[in-house]
Amino acid sequence: AVVGVLKWLQPHKWNGPGTTEHFAAIVLGRCSNYTQTAPLAPRNVDCQKIQETFKNAFISKNPCNITEEDYQPLMKLTTQTIPCNKTLFWSRAKQVAHQYTQLHQDMFTLEDTLLGYLADGLMWCGDAGTSEVDHQSCPDWKKDCPNNPVSVFWKIASQRFAEAACGVVHVILNGTISKTFDENSTFGSVEVIHLRPERVQALHAWVIYNVEVPSDPCMASSINKLKSIVTQRNIAFRCQHRPATYINHVTNPERSACSSMI
Ligand code: NAD
Repeated sequence: AVVGVLKWLQPHKWNGPGTTEHFAAIVLGRCSNYTQTAPLAPRNVDCQKIQETFKNAFISKNPCNITEEDYQPLMKLTTQTIPCNKTLFWSRAKQVAHQYTQLHQDMFTLEDTLLGYLADGLMWCGDAGTSEVDHQSCPDWKKDCPNNPVSVFWKIASQRFAEAACGVVHVILNGTISKTFDENSTFGSVEVIHLRPERVQALHAWVIYNVEVPSDPCMASSINKLKSIVTQRNIAFRCQHRPATYINHVTNPERSACSSMI
């Protein structure tokens, strides 16, 4: 017990929160839940193996030196096909995007795929020289290092999700902030540039706002920037603004005021 207290009194090594309590059990539980209930769940999934492979990607490794190769075995085990026209990206609008896919279960964000579902909202890291996870602290991607287990995971998962997208793809953006499209976000720096022009015909952006807007949020300069990046890659671009209540409207499609919005 004394050792436990002393350990707790030591200054934390990193600036970010530590590994989520019961990380391995949560991953295992989410995997069984997903494979038993989700539409499009991959078949013949060995959740125990997935959980172990996930842990092996970062355990006993310096948490500032994680590479994309470390996650290759996990990526292989969780390959999943999303039908064309059904991919939904988001940036600074996680809650709205997930509410949307809850209502429209034929649309998929990364977190509606097995890989994203396993990891969403969790923290994890280990350290060289120990086979334990670090529950005290993990590297913060800004204050400590970019190549930490969580950042590298989302980068590679987002890249693969974008590379596999086809047809018309959608993104939900936040029209209540100045950087509605941010080139430095994962959407801007990873997903947009990994869409394959030979597979993806168009990107449709839905800009969400929740107050009366003085001007069309699709006219914002950051949206223009997105449009030019996308069209230069030979992918068509369309932007529409949607009030945040759009999500609620979809819940009540019988209301006449809503039907025109669907
Ligand atoms: P965002 O800025 O809203 O970021 C989403 C979350 O990821 C936030 O909690 C943010 O703090 C965190 N994040 C972003 N970059 C990070 C990094 N390098 N290291 C650690 N955490 C980081 O939106 P975004 O950056 O455009 O990312 C959203 C898009 O990318 C989605 O389309 C999704 O497919 C994917 N993504 C999902 C998650 C997730 O937590 N579920 C995280 C990153 C990326």
